[in-house]
Amino acid sequence: MRRRTSKDAPRRLSIRTAVSAALATVTLAATATAATAQGAAPPSSPAPHGPRTQQVEYFTETTGHPRHTTVPPSPPLSPAEKTAIAGDGDVTSIVQNGPVGTKLDVVFVGDGYTAAQQEDFHADVRAKWAKMSAVEPYASYAGLFNVWAVDAVSNESGVSGDPTQDVVRDTALDSAFFCDGTERLLCVDTGKVESYASKAPAADLVVVLANSTKYGGAGYNDVSSQVGYDGIATASSDNDRSDQIAVHETGHSLGKLADEYDYGESGTYSGPEPAEANLTTLSADQMTAQRQKWYRWIGQESPDGGAVGAFEGGGYYEHGLNRPTENSIMRTLGREFNLPGREGMIAGFYRYASVLSSPVPTDRAVPRTARLRVGAPASAQVKWYVDGRERKAARGRSTVVVRALGVPHDGRTHTVTARATDRTAAVRDPALRKQLSAKLSWRVAR
Ligand SMILES: [Zn+2]
Repeated sequence: MRRRTSKDAPRRLSIRTAVSAALATVTLAATATAATAQGAAPPSSPAPHGPRTQQVEYFTETTGHPRHTTVPPSPPLSPAEKTAIAGDGDVTSIVQNGPVGTKLDVVFVGDGYTAAQQEDFHADVRAKWAKMSAVEPYASYAGLFNVWAVDAVSNESGVSGDPTQDVVRDTALDSAFFCDGTERLLCVDTGKVESYASKAPAADLVVVLANSTKYGGAGYNDVSSQVGYDGIATASSDNDRSDQIAVHETGHSLGKLADEYDYGESGTYSGPEPAEANLTTLSADQMTAQRQKWYRWIGQESPDGGAVGAFEGGGYYEHGLNRPTENSIMRTLGREFNLPGREGMIAGFYRYASVLSSPVPTDRAVPRTARLRVGAPASAQVKWYVDGRERKAARGRSTVVVRALGVPHDGRTHTVTARATDRTAAVRDPALRKQLSAKLSWRVAR
């Protein structure tokens, strides 16, 4: 599955499997509904074993309101396309915070950039990541991420459908506005995206940047790749508002959050309790009494404004489903995540990243003169141990010298250990909290 060695494989949260399975059920149901509503036959034949349609989300310009629709799946890659991609795709490290096994690896793939424009692409990745990671809880956890740029060389600059529907350009990933006739829906060949993304050392989150100033984007939320990422977000490189589309989409892919907007389906929701953490059929009182969903947050002031409660409408229905706050980013672009949403995002970060990382390898002995450096979020406290006993004077330090920790110089083997636990107030679920610890140990050379 994920391209990692066993040595640096991260601990994974056990909740992941359950949440993914539940989410898949919801996605299937939504796809079926949308497909029935749309009724149009896809213009190209679907892959024999692939999905018949792909669910996508997009954001219209006039209102910024999200919408859902389905598009035909990308056709399988031809042998010629596979060969072309195999010979393309240089990988550049944009942000490096630690070994891939201990970080959440974000992969940007560019489309509509010619061979001469790859430096422009790298600059666009830096700018886009700066915008995305300014949003909480990304900002507080920026050190958990690595960012990679995978160059896809296009024959033409820019992408199809920009500025008008009749414009067709020859690009590496077939990005196109006016997808399915919708101007702001920026589609991409998801098979080609996966082929390029797999060139990065790891791919936990994938964003496709289309070389364009036109407003648009898309979220492919039912894409589950062999490389390890869930979902693909597309965004135009040089349009400010498209940054927030990508952040909203990571609410689905990383946060496993549902949409909190309430249009798209008519009538009253009558299905089972949704699997996602930010939708419920219960009232605030019922959540509290049954200790369900976001009951731990009820009454707390939320970063997106107002107190957490149960607000009617969400999951595409006006009635029958409640959301935690009036207007979070899962409802409207440009907003903050609400408190349950932040907690879901932090859980997502830690599915891939570890609380503690170090550039100093742990699989070989370190000399007594070694300087050990670790990275941990600001909300985590680092403690240092020699042979299991804490050296309290070193508490909170990110760098120590082995000898200065008081490791005995007696010809015996000793072990130095760093432990960290993230005590962020943004997490209240004790099951999640238990996962927010990590340790690293080094054997000290005799
Ligand atoms: Zn959404």
